[in-house]
Amino acid sequence: MQTLDNIIGGKAVRSASARTAPVFNPATGEQAAVLPLSTAAELDAAVQVAKAAWPAWAEMPPLRRAKFMFAFKALLDANQKKIAEAISAEHGKTHADALGELQRGIEVVDFCCGIPHLLKGEFSRHVGPGIDTHSDRQPLGVVAGITPFNFPAMVPMWMYPVAIACGNTFILKPSERDPSTSMIVAELFREAGFPDGVLNVVHGDKEVVDAILTHPDIKAVSFVGSTPIAEYVYRTGTAHGKRVQALGGAKNHMIIMPDADIEKAADALMGAGYGSAGERCMAISVAVPIGEETANKLVESLAPRVRALKIGPATDPEAEMGPLVTKQHMEKVLGYIDAGVKEGADLVVDGRGFKLQGYEGGYYVGGTLFDRVTPDMSIYKEEIFGPVLSVVRSPNYAHAVKLINDHEYGNGTAIFTRDGDAARSFADQIEVGMVGINVPIPVPVAYHSFGGWKRSLFGDHAIYGPEGVHFYTRLKTVTARWPDGIKSGAVFTFPSTH
Ligand code: NAD
Repeated sequence: MQTLDNIIGGKAVRSASARTAPVFNPATGEQAAVLPLSTAAELDAAVQVAKAAWPAWAEMPPLRRAKFMFAFKALLDANQKKIAEAISAEHGKTHADALGELQRGIEVVDFCCGIPHLLKGEFSRHVGPGIDTHSDRQPLGVVAGITPFNFPAMVPMWMYPVAIACGNTFILKPSERDPSTSMIVAELFREAGFPDGVLNVVHGDKEVVDAILTHPDIKAVSFVGSTPIAEYVYRTGTAHGKRVQALGGAKNHMIIMPDADIEKAADALMGAGYGSAGERCMAISVAVPIGEETANKLVESLAPRVRALKIGPATDPEAEMGPLVTKQHMEKVLGYIDAGVKEGADLVVDGRGFKLQGYEGGYYVGGTLFDRVTPDMSIYKEEIFGPVLSVVRSPNYAHAVKLINDHEYGNGTAIFTRDGDAARSFADQIEVGMVGINVPIPVPVAYHSFGGWKRSLFGDHAIYGPEGVHFYTRLKTVTARWPDGIKSGAVFTFPSTH
């Protein structure tokens, strides 16, 4: 069985750790690889390599750095199929979905090819007699990224291309559940000609994460994952003097107004609720129809669609949704369906007991639809991260807005309506970071930035786009006067422009 290596200084390095984790193919339940869980000492070795690579990389003119990024993008484009297959093999998402995530990741690499423009500073001539001031954004040094299982290509690409294009060197700690994608992409990165040590991949679990969070030579940490770990990463990293952006979990609501086209709203909910088996931080997991009539029509329209979902392995081109990532996660999702029934929600479509012939060992859960879910139920309060959509009936628009604003998460949300007033007021009033108007999954494009509110993001910066550039750089402002302008004699008053 294949054992996965770390990539340090451009070379594959076998971890000597005694601890390992199995990597599974979720479509079949068979083990696909062994992942050594690296030690704190191995992380330190990677940091030293990244630290040694940093000065030359930071000194390289941004346009020269960008040339490597162009080459990397071309290699990613040329290898899309291979990367998407690696994603599907360990994550379980369909091939088309894996290609979609990769495409969104490549768009960030695209954005990074033009980063020199965003590193430009400002200049003010003559801020005082003979004095000029300029400011620019400079890299931080060695920075690190810790990523979740659900987007093994895209989420790391939210981080390292931006950090590296800004002049930092990077340590990536991918999810231990689907680590192979990072290996393929790191190899392409090396082929693109980046100097050794600029991007390093260290596999592992809490031991490596803790080593990252406390390492004195790591200046900033980007994290994407569940909220309890995001909060832990934020608190521990900042307590150790690091800049931290930690993106957490979600419970994304979609309001369906009475004037919405119900069939189109139902189609949108199918993709947003069940695509990738609901394992997306921007998945819609709560539908909020306004009024009983809208709710009845919506549930009638959704139920047959959920029953007809085509579920299968990624190798089946007809599949609309694949398995869940691990057996443990499948059991957790099944536990939530049991809890919803116990708590009194109406189980309209039951995905428990779904079996796929020939793939009996796979981690499949059928599409599940609950109606009459109420805010006190655990299936409403908690992130399920599976193919389970809850309908919360709301009497009116104001009630629905309050419902969303009262939720602890604030990642994404959407409203389906033909009413411009309602849409505009929704965008204004809703306490959520990313808002869709007739767009169910409003993931910002690469030249905007991605980030939730409330307990969906800890830290001051959203990720990628201009906010990403700010996160991975610090401002320096230089005030200069040349000898001709310097008057004789000491000045003891505070410097002013007079
Ligand atoms: P996770 O929190 O279990 O793991 C994320 C990372 O943290 C992994 O690299 C893992 O190794 C590490 N980790 C896990 N437990 C740890 C611990 N006790 N101490 C230190 N590190 C630890 O998340 P996941 O299950 O891989 O991913 C799914 C979660 O990620 C969902 O909650 C989802 O909403 C969230 N997510 C959020 C976004 C976003 O942009 N807000 C995007 C994608 C996923």
